[in-house]
Amino acid sequence: MIKRISKSATLIGLALLLVLGTVLIGGCAKETPTLPPTVEASIVNDYPGLKPLVDFVGEENLSVLNLVGFKAADKAMRELGFGKGDPDILALTDAGYIAKIEEYTTEKALDGVIMTSGLSRGKGNLANLHKAYNWPLWFAFFDKRSKDCIYLEPKSEILKTYLDREKADRDAALADFMKLSDKEIFAKIAKENIDAQGLLDNPEAWQEKMLAKVFGGNEFSIFTISNLWAMGLPNDFLKVAELHDHICPGLTSGYLIAKYVIKHFPTANPRNEYTVIAIPPWCKDDALIQMFETNVGHKRLYVKHLTKEQIGQLPKEAKNVANIIIRWEKGAESGDGIVVGFDWDKLFEECELERAWLRDFATYKWWYVRLKMDIAEMHYLDNPEALVFTIKEFEVKSPAEIEKLKAAGVNPLVELGIMPGS
Ligand SMILES: [Zn+2]
Repeated sequence: MIKRISKSATLIGLALLLVLGTVLIGGCAKETPTLPPTVEASIVNDYPGLKPLVDFVGEENLSVLNLVGFKAADKAMRELGFGKGDPDILALTDAGYIAKIEEYTTEKALDGVIMTSGLSRGKGNLANLHKAYNWPLWFAFFDKRSKDCIYLEPKSEILKTYLDREKADRDAALADFMKLSDKEIFAKIAKENIDAQGLLDNPEAWQEKMLAKVFGGNEFSIFTISNLWAMGLPNDFLKVAELHDHICPGLTSGYLIAKYVIKHFPTANPRNEYTVIAIPPWCKDDALIQMFETNVGHKRLYVKHLTKEQIGQLPKEAKNVANIIIRWEKGAESGDGIVVGFDWDKLFEECELERAWLRDFATYKWWYVRLKMDIAEMHYLDNPEALVFTIKEFEVKSPAEIEKLKAAGVNPLVELGIMPGS
């Protein structure tokens, strides 16, 4: 409102000057008044650091969400001491995926981070994690050299207040938001060293920080993805991790199964020519979804749980069964399939770890075992055969056979003669 009044006041003023000028020109040409040069009002005049962001989104589109991304990146750059576009820094955030601030989606915060820090998807140093719609918005920045990580979690209610204000008077809302201190904007600003070796060497100390939720409950996501990224995570694996929200040995087993299938059981059109049965399902299946686009909604993934009793009935060679993959290529008269397993026994032995630790959520053991195995599995990314194996190969002579294997109430491992029917 104030802006409108001042705008019309300016217009009236200009009109008066013009009239006056015309009169004066008519009377005495020498006394033509000259208007002082005007500086166009811009938030960049007050905050020059905002220039790349404002240039990118356009000042007329600038939002408080852009600014919170700027504030997070700016604080991280000062705290970790890195310059724009530093390739040794990884940014992690749930902004712009599904996480929302009440009714507001958060994608604009991503532009704030990218344009300020120079970190991006294209450079492979921005991990955009999948969290539920009502999970808090957060940002983290990890330095590959020092393994220091800074975590920033904005106050949702502050953002909501300024986003509401932005709808009524954007300029004032943005200007006031920029004046807020970091403490007023962020509920949590935490800096920790998350070097995997340090965590494994002194797990009790890190467990205390896990319990204290130093990174707002995102600790496992952040330290697994960051440490593996520092080891040289391939970009397709990073996309797999974004959907799954963390990296665990189960997810890596899926990435390795995908690589094994690509090598030994390929097809030109995975989305249309594969039928994947997850039996039993675990984290791996999120990797297969990403790599093959064989998701549940595309009716290319069928999930079958095995009870403890059923697992007990599996023969030794199928104890580590993971997936059935059926291939029916376009125009083909028949199809074929493989049943694959993952050699957990070998991996546990190599890591000198006990399987029971996976379920020990009362102590550090649950994350310790996962982190240690994550690192071990990184050495197998180009050698999936070391851990993935074929349990059985089979033919399918008609589409009806595939229908039967994926149908409700059917145990496909019994159908394929791998385990006895009960
Ligand atoms: Zn997982």
